[in-house]
This record gives sequence, C-alpha cells and structure tokens, in this order.
Amino acid sequence: MRTAFAVLGFAASTSLAAQDSDQRRLEREIFRELIEVNTSDSAGNTPILAAKIADRLKAAGFDPPDVLVIGHDPRYQNVVARLRGRAAGKKPILLMAHLDVVDARREDWSFDPYQFREVDGYYYGRGTSDNKAGASILIANFIRLKKEGYQPDRDLIMALTADEETSGDAIQWLVRERRQLIDAEYALNTDAGGGAYQNGKPIAFAIQASEKMFLTFQLEVRNKGGHSSLPVPDNAIYRLSRGLDRLGRFSFPVRLNEVSRGFFLRSAEAEKGQTAADMRALALRRDPVAARRLSAQSPYFNSVMRTTCVATRLFGGHADNALPQLARATVNCRLVPDDHPDSVRATLQRVVADSAIAIREQDQPTPSPPSPLRADVLQPIEALVRATWPGIPVIPEMSTGATDGLHVRNGGIPVYGVSAIFEELNDTRAHGRDERVGVKEFHGASTFWYQMLKALTSPPKA
Ligand SMILES: [Zn+2]
Repeated sequence: MRTAFAVLGFAASTSLAAQDSDQRRLEREIFRELIEVNTSDSAGNTPILAAKIADRLKAAGFDPPDVLVIGHDPRYQNVVARLRGRAAGKKPILLMAHLDVVDARREDWSFDPYQFREVDGYYYGRGTSDNKAGASILIANFIRLKKEGYQPDRDLIMALTADEETSGDAIQWLVRERRQLIDAEYALNTDAGGGAYQNGKPIAFAIQASEKMFLTFQLEVRNKGGHSSLPVPDNAIYRLSRGLDRLGRFSFPVRLNEVSRGFFLRSAEAEKGQTAADMRALALRRDPVAARRLSAQSPYFNSVMRTTCVATRLFGGHADNALPQLARATVNCRLVPDDHPDSVRATLQRVVADSAIAIREQDQPTPSPPSPLRADVLQPIEALVRATWPGIPVIPEMSTGATDGLHVRNGGIPVYGVSAIFEELNDTRAHGRDERVGVKEFHGASTFWYQMLKALTSPPKA
C-alpha cells in the first residue's frame, strides 16, 4: 500500500521526483567515498576521510569555521560541523556517527571489503552497516538542508568520530576538552536503534535510550597443592568448579527501568499469545513466572530484564602430576544501568558460597544513566514512524553492548539511538564478513532522517 502511495506521489510532481533522484545519487556517492577509504584501526585513515568530508561540506556552502577536522591524536581525526539555526534560544541537537570500522581481511570476505559494491538490492563493503551508512546519511542531509537554505530553530551539530570501535577516546575528548563544540540539549545517534524485519516485513522500530555497563571479575582459589598421587578433598579446581556451577544456575533479580519496561510493553504490541501476555505481566507486575518464560525463550529478553554474569575463561593447575595450586575464572558481567558494582560483587560472593573463592574486579565500569524518554523528542519521531511504516510499534531499547553514546550520556547529554535502517533480525553482519545494508533501507533511512530533523527543528504548525 505504501509503495502505491509513494508512486502516486512521485507521479504528481516530476520535479520532486527529479530532486529525489538527485538526492539518492548524492547519498550513494558519499556512501561510496566513505566505504572506499579504509578506516580500520590498522590502516589509520580517518584523517584522510575526515578531510574529504570537510571539503565536501565546504563545497556545499558551509562556512569553513563551521567545519572542523579535529582530534586528540593526529592518527584519529573527527569531523565536527554545524548547521546554523535561527537564534531561538534553544540548545543545539548533536547528531552522531563514527568514521572508523572494524578491520576486515580480504581473505575472509567473498570480495574486497573496501570496494563499494551494489548487488541484488544491497550495498556491500566494510562499514556499510556499522556505521558508514549512518555517517553518509548525516552528511547527505546536512548538504541537502544547506542547499535548501533550511534554517532549523536551533543549531544542528554533526560529530563523526574516529575510534568508536576501539578506545572511544575521540568522543571522550570531545565531551571533556571541546565541550562547547558539541554541547547540546540531546543527541541522536545513527549507531544504535534501528528497524527490525521478519522475513522482509517491518515488525518494530527501536530507539536506543540506554546501554548496559561492562564489568569483569576474576574468581580465584589458591591451594597449597601437593602430589597428584595423594589427592585430598580440598582441591582448587573442584572448589572453583562448584562455585561456578552455582553461579551458572543463578539469575540476578529482575530489575527494570523506564527504558526496559517500555521495551517489553511496546514489544508486546508486535507479539502474540503467551509471549505478549508475559511481556505485559513482566512490565506491569514483575510477574516471576512471566520473567522465567521470557528468559527461557530468548537470551536477549533475559539480558534486558536483569544484570547478567557469565564465566568466559578458565585457567588452573601447573603440572599433570601436581594438585592445582591455583584455579581462576573470568566472569564477565553486564549491569543494568542502575545496578552497582559492589552489590554485584556481594551477590557473586553469596552465590558461589565459598569463602575460599576470592573475587576481585578486573576493571571499573563506566556508568551510563538511561536517557529519559522525553515526549518532545519521541513524539515527533513516533508520528513519523507511524506515517512511514504504519502499524509497527516504536520500542525503547537498552543495548547490551556499548557505543560512543555511553560517553555522551555520561557527560550529561541524553542520547537516542535512531539508525532507522531496517534489517533482518537474524542477519546482522556488523563486524562480520560480507557486511551489507539494503539499498532501499539505506535511502529510506536517509529520507526518514531528513523528515525527522525537520520535525524536530521546525516551529509547530498552527
Ligand atoms: Zn558502530
């Protein structure tokens, strides 16, 4: 149905159609340029790409002082550009994407990962999904809005960062050392959220408003050891194993926040039967039976509703013929944002239930408060989703991994992940081989961003 309307719309206005195909060409050309500069950490080419983007923006009419190529390290250069708005006394909106990609080796791929290809309705290349589609969408829309002479009701700032996939130092430097350049009322991140397809049909539109915290523990048992021909009950490997077994059978209590509660309530609209009923029972009453069923059904549901800790590495013993003097496990935890490292450690200690198992933190988590679900941001976006993909729910999301958004939230700026790119639930290729994004989905997301930016920065119609 939507396609039919779109076709009628184009037929009614050929100049609009021409404009539209010009814009598509520009989007594709920018996307190609971004993919074909290898910005993996080992190649270190973000300065080259940042310079090309800056030249393109200036050629499109941006004043040079509004287009900066900067960074904390000459090897990692960011683009920060500003589209000036009417001075309406409103703080800017920050738009985020990253220029760097995860390394890709030619021999792992079916073709050269750094050559942009269009095959059977997909654009292929390293970064097509994570996150150069997003960066291209921001650049193309900045140019489009500039050429139109559009004046938003506040400044729009675009920050394209250089090391999201590795240290995240670039965004932290911007937040800490160049705050005035990127300071904003809130941020929209192309690197999170997104649309979900099931067998080619849109089923949900996610907006990321929260990220879990990462915290790793070492669990260690030390023992005086001895000759393996004379075993004793007090064995380091057995003690650690029993503790890990108890941990493996344990689940942290359900701990929902505004974002995860919203996730289950809205997801219920896309689900049917028992699953939909369980999602509502969990969100509204923290129903334990519903929580158990949903956790068993999907590791993702389980991770959204609670803190998780899982053994990921194991080390022990020093000789085939000696009793072990040391047994050590690495346990990686993902904390819901309002959980606390001390309380997680205390829980681990209680669950492994053996004072011989010493538990220590291997790192310090970076806290990341969930962003409030603000109506002034989310309502215009939801209205646009309803108009573009009728009938699908908008679902607030808490990522179980982390992006640059973590550091921006941490700096007191709420962040909403709105990639708006649809992909199949079971075919995500970010960081993997033969990475791709749908042609229709890429250009559709770009049009969505164009409309979203206007909806968020135009005075309300009388
Ligand atoms: Zn990314």
